[in-house]
Amino acid sequence: MRRPDADRLIFTNHHQAKCLEFDTVFICDAVEGVFPDLRPRDSLLGVRHRMDHLPSDPADYTAFRLQEERRLAYTAMTRARARVVWTATSVGSEAGRGVPSRFLPLVGGVATLHELATSPPERGRPVSPREAEAGLRRLASDPTAPAPRRLAAVAALAAGPRWRMRDPVRHAGIAGRGRATGLNGSELRLSPSEADGYARCPRRYAIERKLNQAGDSIYARFGSVVHEVLDQVESEAMAQGKRHADYPTAVQRLDKIMDPGDFGGEPFAAAWRARAREGLARLYNMWPSTATPVAIEQRVSFDLGDVTWRGRIDRIERDAAGVRIVDYKTSKTPVQLTEAAESLQLGFYALAAGADAELGKHGEPVAAEFWYPLVAAQKSLTTRALDMHNLPALGRRLIELGEAIAAESWDPAPGDWCERCPFASSCPARPEGGDQFA
Ligand code: SF4
Repeated sequence: MRRPDADRLIFTNHHQAKCLEFDTVFICDAVEGVFPDLRPRDSLLGVRHRMDHLPSDPADYTAFRLQEERRLAYTAMTRARARVVWTATSVGSEAGRGVPSRFLPLVGGVATLHELATSPPERGRPVSPREAEAGLRRLASDPTAPAPRRLAAVAALAAGPRWRMRDPVRHAGIAGRGRATGLNGSELRLSPSEADGYARCPRRYAIERKLNQAGDSIYARFGSVVHEVLDQVESEAMAQGKRHADYPTAVQRLDKIMDPGDFGGEPFAAAWRARAREGLARLYNMWPSTATPVAIEQRVSFDLGDVTWRGRIDRIERDAAGVRIVDYKTSKTPVQLTEAAESLQLGFYALAAGADAELGKHGEPVAAEFWYPLVAAQKSLTTRALDMHNLPALGRRLIELGEAIAAESWDPAPGDWCERCPFASSCPARPEGGDQFA
């Protein structure tokens, strides 16, 4: 029989938690619509309108509901003796993407959600053995820390394996940071996807692209297969004078090209094949263009500043207005409209196509778009377009990025992308990273 004071998890709702106390309280699924939930607590008969203490005006009533939810949040948080953890997830939300609760910046003590996502938490209590180990190593090697604390840290490290930390006899720490230059090699050639990677985080870009630590991803393999299918069938269709290929031809080619071994064998490969078929069906059922193709998988290069940029454009079309550029995306989540409007990748393609003498015969670039065949759609294929007015600014931005890469400036740039960064445990901008052993 379990002792009444033994550790356990208790699942409860906010109301039932009143008068209880716990060491740690997890407030889960803090997304808009769940917490706060501002739906009117109303019956079909509209009893609310007969209660004098409740505001009748809809806006006032929503404000009242928000106050109620805030009170609940306060109650839930004050149930914790030591720690409160809020979680928010997009999984299971009706729209497919949960919007984080407006309470999160409040409890995080910051002004905006963006600030909350981009500023790494201050070093506090560790939440994993690896983080605990890093903290202890920092303390042990900190000459400004009191000697008893440093000694205690060494003792805790020595007992580390008991707490799932690494054995200090076998893992003596990591070397201090070395030079971060000399990664570029003799000739600097860049691609627009590198510009995107560098613009997001120079440090991660350097590790992935310069030190070749990106690793293999099944999503990248899937994207390559779909691009290869479209390259082959669209090249053939263009040679036959057609505007585009068709679904049966594309699926036939998919089955020929796709190697199940690259996708973990069957039945996993069958799931990826079904996913590709679904995207191809959507693409050919909802083909989003009436223009004529002039080039498929076209290599382009363009000098910007002192750097030569190179890339490959998936599809180039022309119509009466001019040249249209298309880049297929195999993600299931499209970028925001504003992000596409300022896309470095589309901007580079448009600039390079405009400077290409051969493509110039078909006219000036007038549009550049991402196409998303994998995104569920009812009536028309999901696309995202570049704002062509942004081209001059994007050209300047590419020059800036080229100069920064040439100067080998690899400082970390923390943001919400850090959550999925495989190099966070060695990143000085993150609490779990930094100099683990000075
Ligand atoms: S953790 Fe964030 S800041 Fe550090 S390298 Fe990764 S993406 Fe960049």
